[in-house]
Amino acid sequence: MSTTLPSLLSRLTWLLAPGRCVLCGLASHRQRDLCDVCEADLPALLDPCPRCALPLASGVSGLCGPCLLRPPRYLSLTAACSYQDPADLLVQALKFRRLRPAARVMAEVMYERLPATSLPREAWLLPVPLHPWRQWQRGFNQSVLIAQELARLGGWRMLSRAVRRRRATRPQSGLNRAGRRRNLANAFEARPGRVPEQVIIVDDVVTTGTTLDALTRTLLRAGAREVHAWAFARTPP
Ligand SMILES: [Zn+2]
Ligand SMILES: [Zn+2]
Repeated sequence: MSTTLPSLLSRLTWLLAPGRCVLCGLASHRQRDLCDVCEADLPALLDPCPRCALPLASGVSGLCGPCLLRPPRYLSLTAACSYQDPADLLVQALKFRRLRPAARVMAEVMYERLPATSLPREAWLLPVPLHPWRQWQRGFNQSVLIAQELARLGGWRMLSRAVRRRRATRPQSGLNRAGRRRNLANAFEARPGRVPEQVIIVDDVVTTGTTLDALTRTLLRAGAREVHAWAFARTPP
């Protein structure tokens, strides 16, 4: 067992304040604020398409049909869970109940479930920017909190202030695909010279991928060559 100062401090913190599960509220009996029963309940993605993270038809390898016809601009989308019970509760606990430890828990699960070679270590993490007004209303950007934890876990660098959300877009729910794309056209703006070649966009939940695609377009126009996306949960089809 390692006895470095950080590991001693972390064990001491755990003794003084043992983990409490953000989902069931019981003592987690480990350093994580998620008990192993609730963690095992987080539904993994079954046979995901590497490009969009939706399930592949049985017997299919490579990309799904829609991605073969019209691939998204990002090169890959990796998600830790399907956006179903109880993964949705974890997302809502952070976003609406402002339960900050949920961000760390989500990042830990994302990091542990990440396939070994799927995301480049030299890339920079970019949390999906919120419009300043929405961020002010909420008090935080949940994707920033998750990305900060991922950066700490995996040693990635974080991109901050390279991209901003230009317009307060209408909520995407209730719009069809074309409406969503129109709603998000030019929603993001990159600062010239601030975008690195490799970027990993971080988000809590991906529903249609339209936001990711719009953000990817902005990044590619600003000089990025390779854009990946990494989310805690993916909405099932
Ligand atoms: Zn629990
Ligand atoms: Zn696909």
